[in-house]
Amino acid sequence: MNVPETMLEKPAAERGIGRLLTDRGALFGERTKAVATAAAAEAEAVDREARFPKAAIDAAREQKLLGMQIPVALGGFGASIPDITEICYTLGRACASSAMIFAMHQTKVACLVRHGTGSDYHEALMRRVAAEQLLLASSTTEGQNGGNIRASAAAIARHEAEISLVRSATVISYGAEADGIVSIARRADDAAASDQVLLAVTKDHYTLERTLGWETLGMRGTCSAGFELKITGPAAMVFPEGYDKIHAQTMTPVAHLCWSSAWAGIAAAAVDRAQRFIRKAARGAGGQMPPGAAHYTAAKMALTKLRALITASLDLYAAHEYDGHRLSSLDFQSAINLLKVEASELAVETAMHAMRACGLSGYRNDGEFTVGRHLRDALSAPLMINNDRILSNIATASLMSGVPAALRD
Ligand SMILES: Cc1cc2nc3c(=O)[nH]c(=O)nc-3n(C[C@H](O)[C@H](O)[C@H](O)COP(=O)(O)OP(=O)(O)OC[C@H]3O[C@@H](n4cnc5c(N)ncnc54)[C@H](O)[C@@H]3O)c2cc1C
Repeated sequence: MNVPETMLEKPAAERGIGRLLTDRGALFGERTKAVATAAAAEAEAVDREARFPKAAIDAAREQKLLGMQIPVALGGFGASIPDITEICYTLGRACASSAMIFAMHQTKVACLVRHGTGSDYHEALMRRVAAEQLLLASSTTEGQNGGNIRASAAAIARHEAEISLVRSATVISYGAEADGIVSIARRADDAAASDQVLLAVTKDHYTLERTLGWETLGMRGTCSAGFELKITGPAAMVFPEGYDKIHAQTMTPVAHLCWSSAWAGIAAAAVDRAQRFIRKAARGAGGQMPPGAAHYTAAKMALTKLRALITASLDLYAAHEYDGHRLSSLDFQSAINLLKVEASELAVETAMHAMRACGLSGYRNDGEFTVGRHLRDALSAPLMINNDRILSNIATASLMSGVPAALRD
């Protein structure tokens, strides 16, 4: 069933949040199903050949989901972060790489929507994302700097109304397939490493020269190769707000919510296989549960925790979504960073239990109960901005915030 797209323009208060979500579910449900079907059909080949999931992303374009977050006034559907994360979860169940590409693209679009409004350049780009269904990639990792996103080496050079940037971009997922890149950079040659800006650049303003391939254990379809990124174009490509604010208020929360939802989808797909395996084994044994059943229960339990963690974090984000001060607070930043750490660990734990529930049938790479791909894909989660780095970064902040006196704050 397709609900008229204009329904999204009605304010939540007029229709009740619960109903709004249900209606949105109806609006995006069919579209998501079409993309997930395409993603599932090519998931194995995408993994085996480490190739871009073209059919899935083409379907997302066709269904106008790449521009779904763009405000209605600029040609999109004005979709919310809960709408986006629901799709990340559904795609994660079908194909991890498609889900992660969708999650990363939507994080970049969130930066445009939340920090580009009022800037002619960024509003024009938003219109293009909605009309042309442009796919945006991300460049944060640089040189040997790993996941230290809040420090940049390459600086913007200004030549009157033009700027240029040359960046050793160690990893840009689907860089070769994207229509645009959102990149961080040092503000100027004499600026400190942490004095950063964000730029949104379309393909006509950059070149990519491949420096590193992407032959990895999992997430093979994200095609996260390394490139030398050279940008030249109008100074207006730089967001008006400094990256420190964009990072705290949008980049980190939206990335962590979307990534976690994609990982939860991968975990759910593994649980699905384990459930089918245990059911089949129990049927074959006249109702007697196989010994691996306890691992299936443990997998379900871990998935339940993971979903609860994500939905609680979505609620927390929704409560402060338009309050920059609260979003930047130590408490919120700790919570949203811990979401990433915990969700990534739980996704691996879930997939691991699912594999042990299936035993050899889960371990082998062929057969209907193989869980190898899910486990390999999930293993990327703890190191996509390394959990060790996050935990050591927030150690001081956690010391400063008190121990809760009640279950609910
Ligand atoms: C699937 C996938 C897609 C990606 N896509 C993109 C993309 O599109 N664009 C992009 O820019 N980047 C991308 N990345 C890169 C990602 O954002 C991180 O930069 C990268 O995962 C960090 O890699 P690293 O482990 O080499 O770096 P580091 O974070 O430097 O970690 C290296 C090692 O040091 C340890 N370590 C680091 N800091 C600490 C600390 N403080 N305390 C203790 N130990 C520490 C870690 O445990 C780890 O063992 C992607 C990564 C993955 C896995």
